[in-house]
Amino acid sequence: MQIAKNSVVTFKYDLKVDDEDDVIDSDELTSLIGHGQLPPGLEAGLLGLAVEATKLITVAPEEGYGERDEAKVIGIPRSALPEGMPIEIGMPLELEDEQGEPHMATIQGTEGDDVVLDLNHPLAGSTLHFDVVVTEVRAATAEELQHGHAHGPGGHHHH
Ligand code: ZN
Repeated sequence: MQIAKNSVVTFKYDLKVDDEDDVIDSDELTSLIGHGQLPPGLEAGLLGLAVEATKLITVAPEEGYGERDEAKVIGIPRSALPEGMPIEIGMPLELEDEQGEPHMATIQGTEGDDVVLDLNHPLAGSTLHFDVVVTEVRAATAEELQHGHAHGPGGHHHH
């Protein structure tokens, strides 16, 4: 069976970025294809592969996590952060917006009484090199299609 829209695929990957030699992430993922669960360029590179296929998939920023947007670098008053929280440059933070949706941010520095946060995805602006091995391909269940994500090991779990 080849990977197509509405396949559920499990794959292992090693991720390198830009021209760097270090693997920055290595994991196994289970994902529903064609529902925006993966960066578009990675998903496009997986289409047509079958179990045991290996492939180096290179994804440009616009097909990955987007270009960096300097408008997403914002200052917030230090008093808006929990009291006593250490302010360390490069430290990741999880913020909630008015709707209670989580957003990842990185502390970039301080400016007067403000803490400068970078709300860009840490991999925004990077070219991604995924070295993938496909370990399972199956058709999605009706329930997975309805939810728009994969279930089972490596996928979403509902309680
Ligand atoms: Zn679900």
